Amino acid sequence: HNSFFIEFKKGRSAMETKEFKAESKRLLEMMINSIYTHREIFLRELISNASDAMDKLYYRSLTADVTGVSREDFTIQLTADKDNRILTLEDNGIGMTKEELESNLGTIAKSGSLAFKKENEAKEDVDIIGQFGVGFYSAFMVADCVRVESRAFGADEAFCWESHGAAGYTVEPCEKEGHGTRIILHIKPNADDENYDEFLEPYRLQALVKKYSDYIRYPIKMEMERSRLKEGSDSEYETYTEVETLNSMVPLWKKNKSELTEEDYNAFYKEKFHDFENPARVIHSSTEGAATYNALLFIPARAPYNYYSRDYEKGLQLYASGVLIMDKCADLLPDHFSFVKGLVDSQDLSLNISREMLQHDRQLKIIASRLEKKIKSELLSMLENDREKYETFFKNFGLQLKYGVYNEFGRNKDVLKDLLLFYSSTEKKPVTFAEYVSRMKEGQTCIYYACGQSVEKIEKLPQTELVRDKGYEILYLTEDVDEFALKVLHDLDGKEFKSVSAGDLDLDTPEEKEEEQKQQEENKDLFAFMTEALDGKVQTVRLSRRLKTHPVCLASAGELSLEMEKVLNAMPTDNKVKAERVLEVNESHPIFATLTALYETDKEKLKTYSQLLYAQALLIEGMSVEDPVEFSNQICGLMAEQK
Ligand code: ADP
Repeated sequence: HNSFFIEFKKGRSAMETKEFKAESKRLLEMMINSIYTHREIFLRELISNASDAMDKLYYRSLTADVTGVSREDFTIQLTADKDNRILTLEDNGIGMTKEELESNLGTIAKSGSLAFKKENEAKEDVDIIGQFGVGFYSAFMVADCVRVESRAFGADEAFCWESHGAAGYTVEPCEKEGHGTRIILHIKPNADDENYDEFLEPYRLQALVKKYSDYIRYPIKMEMERSRLKEGSDSEYETYTEVETLNSMVPLWKKNKSELTEEDYNAFYKEKFHDFENPARVIHSSTEGAATYNALLFIPARAPYNYYSRDYEKGLQLYASGVLIMDKCADLLPDHFSFVKGLVDSQDLSLNISREMLQHDRQLKIIASRLEKKIKSELLSMLENDREKYETFFKNFGLQLKYGVYNEFGRNKDVLKDLLLFYSSTEKKPVTFAEYVSRMKEGQTCIYYACGQSVEKIEKLPQTELVRDKGYEILYLTEDVDEFALKVLHDLDGKEFKSVSAGDLDLDTPEEKEEEQKQQEENKDLFAFMTEALDGKVQTVRLSRRLKTHPVCLASAGELSLEMEKVLNAMPTDNKVKAERVLEVNESHPIFATLTALYETDKEKLKTYSQLLYAQALLIEGMSVEDPVEFSNQICGLMAEQK
């Protein structure tokens, strides 16, 4: 052992040293120079890799024609050699071939982690370590030299990978009995205020295993020093060593809820799902009957950086009687709850079920539908009992729920509608539909909403004036998907969702209507002329009932609103759509008198004015003017008249 160590320490200069891939090198440098206070996590990362390697082999033994593998034999062996500062971790899992050593340890798969790091250059490394779990490379937080000896299951040869840090690594054949992987760490010397000795202390290592890896299903063994009374003496002690299993091996989710603390759940979640924040909610349930399973689900406290991108992969870990059979089983989670992390362990599933068969598995479908109900009821309870937390949740994942309402032609709208929040004009905070309905005024038949880029912009929309004036609450829709979602919902127990910009905003009393009809009739020719002047841009021009102080606004006549037009046309397709526009003019605004006068005296100017008013209505709506140059020329023309 000693001679090997000397060789190990000085490295082998004659070997061809290979360079790490650029990204890996950066990550490695970060690890080496890490000031991260939780260096101790390297142990759980290596143990978790070892456990995965045994899972893989066990899984293969069940599904392929492999003999001689027994689950009872799987162990992870820890050895601490204080004198030589060597910590060894050995597993008898699936092992790695020469190529796998190179590709798995020479490059990192987590390229996302570095992309993330680049965006957040200023932040401490705690972010990256906490968020992604850095896996194998975390060994370099405590070791200045790392050697990995591995023999792949079924292979005749073993190979060893070795690296002293960012400079590179070597791979060469080596001697190793039996399949599996042995990781040999040369622990860094202590520095001024850094103590690395602790990672060579059996009691410390035992405590770390208890803390982070207790639930690992294979025994983690280490030789521990014990003392006992000498035989025949009642005061003299002797020391002896004994191999002990350090972990309890019971998966957390199989434990009784009453035995577990919030801290246990939080630690488990952070480790397993690579988050550095505690989850917003933990759902631990076990069920027997039509389907028997344990589920441990978590709602993250914030959206992963790639949540709203294609990279994000939804799914729950799936265990069949304690054996991991799939890492991300997508069929267990509907898209609208894709943010949920966690696992399901069921004895009803066969171990060697294929992915294809799993998709059609009746049992799995029952579990999935139970989980969906469970998640919803947990969210509702959060909404009722911890509003602040729910609002934060909704900021993170509300968009996904709204897409959920809209997607698949509204198939899930009834599951999701109670979970939505929209900003309220009267409450000045996000509210649910139920809360809105409870405040509806007598005689109010619709749920009103207004669309815009932000709450501030909507507050200023002329179209909201009348509805506000009547004392009705308005929901503000600020997200692209919002109005589409409401269109899919259509109504809430018969109360229709109505845009304040809708053409048929039916708010007037019969007398008001009659009056309006009369005025409309009186100005019939003026409006016909203005419509003509706009040359097909609007379906019609008419008097507005919804405007109080503003001169003009746009309304939409058909099902397709202006907001929806904007959203649809922003999509990268050639199918451009156009909402049917109505230009509404405020009769009590001074401009109206000008328009009536011009109709008698100067039709050419009325034409220009009509076009200018239309352009302004577009601008108020947050849309662009169709011909900005023409618009500017027309305004300058008017300005030039005033000498
Ligand atoms: P991750 O475990 O997140 O994939 P790591 O950097 O920890 O990332 O490990 C990279 C890969 O190296 C693993 O995916 C696995 O294929 C391989 N590996 C690491 N440790 C072992 C081990 N003890 N036995 C077999 N393969 C291993």
